[in-house]
Amino acid sequence: MATPLLVRDDPPDAEQAVAQLLRAIGEDPSREGLERTPERVAKAMTFLNSGASKTPLDVLNGAIFTESYEGMVLVQDIEFYSLCEHHLLPFHGHAHIAYLPAGRVVGLSKLPRLLDVFARRLQVQERLTDQVARAVQTAIEPRGVAVRLEAAHFCMMMRGVQKQESLTMTSSFLGAFQRDMALRQEFYSALGAGTAPTPGGPRESRPESVAPRTLSAAGGREPHSDAPLPPSRIGVFTGESPPVPRGKYPQRVGPRPRREGGD
Ligand code: ZN
Repeated sequence: MATPLLVRDDPPDAEQAVAQLLRAIGEDPSREGLERTPERVAKAMTFLNSGASKTPLDVLNGAIFTESYEGMVLVQDIEFYSLCEHHLLPFHGHAHIAYLPAGRVVGLSKLPRLLDVFARRLQVQERLTDQVARAVQTAIEPRGVAVRLEAAHFCMMMRGVQKQESLTMTSSFLGAFQRDMALRQEFYSALGAGTAPTPGGPRESRPESVAPRTLSAAGGREPHSDAPLPPSRIGVFTGESPPVPRGKYPQRVGPRPRREGGD
């Protein structure tokens, strides 16, 4: 039974629901500070779930180009924010997306946008990782795709086990990355090549000695970008990479890691 809401004469359902939630936790939705909260929350939730009404094609259309380049393309340290579907609490962190072109490349700025299509909806990190990988695979049919997510989950930090320092890592490998251990190593080595601020507390900084070359440094080409990507780094890796420090970037093989959730 819906209780009438005090915000507007004919408030949308989401606002009514938020007001009801406020009452359920013992609050008074009519007090000054909360007067417009249902409206704000409804708006915020609409934005945070705006990816659900989009498809990869919405962001990739017109940004796929024929190119003969065959080395690994990696966009690293892409900041993302998503909502855990078990608690409607945020999880956020960094994504690293790599692929091996097979005749086609995608505009570099489109990879972060593609990530947002899947991050801006109710998610679990494992599914988000797979969806991004499969979307890249479907869009340009590269020889392989590697996606890695490192994220801090507020449902673990603020409630439940209350662990602020833990990060959840997930990886998805398709095509050549799935079959070829050396390629995966190259991917992990590339990730070890810089430093990135990570939510959830300090962590070991990555070795500086194997810093990636940027696209422009590697050949002055950056033809597909239509927006700057300051927080991320773009690297093209063609040569041999040093081995990954053992244990630094644990990769998921076999069953998915158990994650707290649903309680
Ligand atoms: Zn959760």
